Amino acid sequence: KESTNGEDDETELLDNPEDDELGGLDIETTADISVPDDLIDQVIGQEHAVDIVRKAAKQKRHVMMIGSPGTGKSMLAKAMAEMLPREQLEDTLVYHNPEDGNKPKVRTVPAGKGKEIIDSHKEEVRKRDQMRTILMWIIIIGIVAYSFLVRRFLLGIIAAGVIFIAFRYLQNDSDAMVPNLLVDNSDKETAPFRDATGAHAGALLGDVRHDPFQSGGLGTPSHDRVEAGAIHEAHRGVLFIDEMNTLDIRNQQSLMTAIQEGRYSITGQSERSSGAMVQTEDVPCDFVMVAAGNMDAMENMHPALRSRIKGYGYEVNMKDTIEDTPEVRRRFARFVAQEVDKDGNIPHFDRDAVAAVIKAAQRRAGRKDHLTLKLRDLGGLVRVAGDIADDEGVDLATKEHVLQAKNRARSIEQQLMDRHIERKQDYDMTVSQGGMVGRVNGLAVMGEDSGRVLPIMAEVTEGKGEVIATGKLQEIAEESVDNVSAIIKKITGKDVTEMDVHVQYIQTYEGVEGDSASITMATAIISALEDVAVDQSVAMTGSLSVRGDVLPVGGVTYKIEAAAKAGMDKVIIPAVNEQDVMIEDEYKEEVEIIPVSHISEVLDHALVERDGKKGVLDKIKNLASELDVDTPKG
Ligand code: ADP
Repeated sequence: KESTNGEDDETELLDNPEDDELGGLDIETTADISVPDDLIDQVIGQEHAVDIVRKAAKQKRHVMMIGSPGTGKSMLAKAMAEMLPREQLEDTLVYHNPEDGNKPKVRTVPAGKGKEIIDSHKEEVRKRDQMRTILMWIIIIGIVAYSFLVRRFLLGIIAAGVIFIAFRYLQNDSDAMVPNLLVDNSDKETAPFRDATGAHAGALLGDVRHDPFQSGGLGTPSHDRVEAGAIHEAHRGVLFIDEMNTLDIRNQQSLMTAIQEGRYSITGQSERSSGAMVQTEDVPCDFVMVAAGNMDAMENMHPALRSRIKGYGYEVNMKDTIEDTPEVRRRFARFVAQEVDKDGNIPHFDRDAVAAVIKAAQRRAGRKDHLTLKLRDLGGLVRVAGDIADDEGVDLATKEHVLQAKNRARSIEQQLMDRHIERKQDYDMTVSQGGMVGRVNGLAVMGEDSGRVLPIMAEVTEGKGEVIATGKLQEIAEESVDNVSAIIKKITGKDVTEMDVHVQYIQTYEGVEGDSASITMATAIISALEDVAVDQSVAMTGSLSVRGDVLPVGGVTYKIEAAAKAGMDKVIIPAVNEQDVMIEDEYKEEVEIIPVSHISEVLDHALVERDGKKGVLDKIKNLASELDVDTPKG
């Protein structure tokens, strides 16, 4: 049997794994699936990354992980910590330095020893304090008794007070004897994992607290005010930093020094605090660094630090999707079991519920025969479904719960977007009937998966080839005008350099993305130029090449669903995207999907006859057939 992670070996498979939604996994509920103990074996669909992390752990190498959020980067870093040897862990202690109170001494001992040392110190101090206290009371009582005898009460009481204060002072002094256990690994079952994503200097590099009483001798001794940074706590373990570029450049520099030296002394981070006068001896910080982020984050991190990490060659690229096979489906079923396990409070999932989660993974992949590997979000779906089931007091989550959860487990960003779209729809200006000149219903995706209809208006005036639009639209508009000018010339015989094109989005707001509007734009411009109407029951999405080829775009599924919701009859999409369409059944009846590969086809479907403008349509039709013949020749 095929197996890489070793989990499938014991599991009996059904006869026809190909036809089964769970890849032939013979289970009734996720309770029947055993979850591997080691975190590294729980990682799904990132075989290459797992492989590299295993090697890096063995060699104690720094790793760079590039990929989308929620694909398992921190999980892998944690798994790496699990694989590092526990025997080498150390505790770090900070001692008072009798020669210079502002230069505390630093010592390391094997893990667990630190606590013992502190305990024995405390015991010693306690005993000594006890002796002192007894001694103090004997003296005080002696003095008071004597002053009674010689009838000098006042003097006696003053003397007793002086002695009391003197002893207190001594006691205070004895605090200095007890070291500060800076890093305590006594209860660690694995090497430490520290997440320093977005950490400020103190949290990353350590700090010395301010002490307002410092100069009076009443304060806390400086060694006791020293606090470890993530780099010190990660000693002999893993330091994980996501979105590396958000780390202050000075901190990146310090981090580099820490990596280079394997030790880094701690000083107060805020300049005017008394902590800034204190600087410890070097504190060990021999960690393995896992730097993560998307491509952008990597490119913007401190070049020297980047090359330092990169130099080891342990670079991991996370995958966003994985091919949908029976084996992978079995993994995904195990993923549901893992998430149920991890949560600890939600019920297990029945077969259909797991199938529904896999269906969601398929939709979210946005790619034919693939499942998404953005598993943090998918885990969110599992938890929400589990919560709903739990609220109902049932002991198994079902498909119903997963479907309900789908509407709830959206990110805040997406929920806002949804609300925005809903509100927009209250006074919606989307036209889904009739023909209009220069107006085209484009489609866009906001957030991850909220589609919406985004109408575009174009107007053409005489001019000198300028494209007039606002914001981001300007760029898209210019590009599409460039791309369609040859075709416009062919169809209309007109030269775009002799006119100005005005383009605007209707009823939109900031943050619209994309080149996926370029066929929309081209259609609007041609319509305006030729004064031919555009069928408003048609919505479209697609990018455009200079030759007029319609190129693929993202989020087609959500766009088509949005068009259907808005009452459109037809949706034009790039033919290349046809395989990515995974719309819910309810929409299949409502819209006709028209895959196209050239702008002429777009025009053919979108432009309508009006006021005897038949000529242009014919030209387009001719052009389309002409191009059909032409295309193979390139
Ligand atoms: P990242 O660091 O890439 O943003 P995380 O590692 O924090 O993502 O993932 C968050 C959670 O999502 C994990 O704790 C785990 O439950 C789940 N998860 C993410 N990726 C995977 C994966 N490849 N395999 C199994 N679970 C995953």
